[in-house]
Amino acid sequence: MDTATCPRCHQPVNSQAVTCPHCGTQLKAYGHPGIPLHRATGKEYLCDTCTYHADDTCNFPQRPFAKECILYQNIEESKQELQQQRYASSFGATVKSWMKRNQALLLLLALLFICLIIALSTS
Ligand code: SF4
Ligand SMILES: [Zn+2]
Repeated sequence: MDTATCPRCHQPVNSQAVTCPHCGTQLKAYGHPGIPLHRATGKEYLCDTCTYHADDTCNFPQRPFAKECILYQNIEESKQELQQQRYASSFGATVKSWMKRNQALLLLLALLFICLIIALSTS
């Protein structure tokens, strides 16, 4: 069972729980376990650290003073994800371009390998 922590009473709760069984805080929106309801823990507003506030794509009326929000996306987390994606795709691109540049070498190696197999099987 996945556990999460209640933002108000800090007790462990089932990550699927719609409300906290300890203090009754609403944890999910619309009574649906798949829709997390993000909640500001301190004095700050969620929008201050939200990706959609930073890139100006949010048009919720509660912006920029949202204390709870279903769409909140932490900006630091999405930055890290973006970096990982970039790194992954650049690694893939590097391998691909190396293969393209060294096609002749790869072909030669493959031929050598085949010769070796033939030599071994006939000896
Ligand atoms: S998605 Fe929610 S937290 Fe993010 S800017 Fe809009 S209202 Fe604020
Ligand atoms: Zn609680």
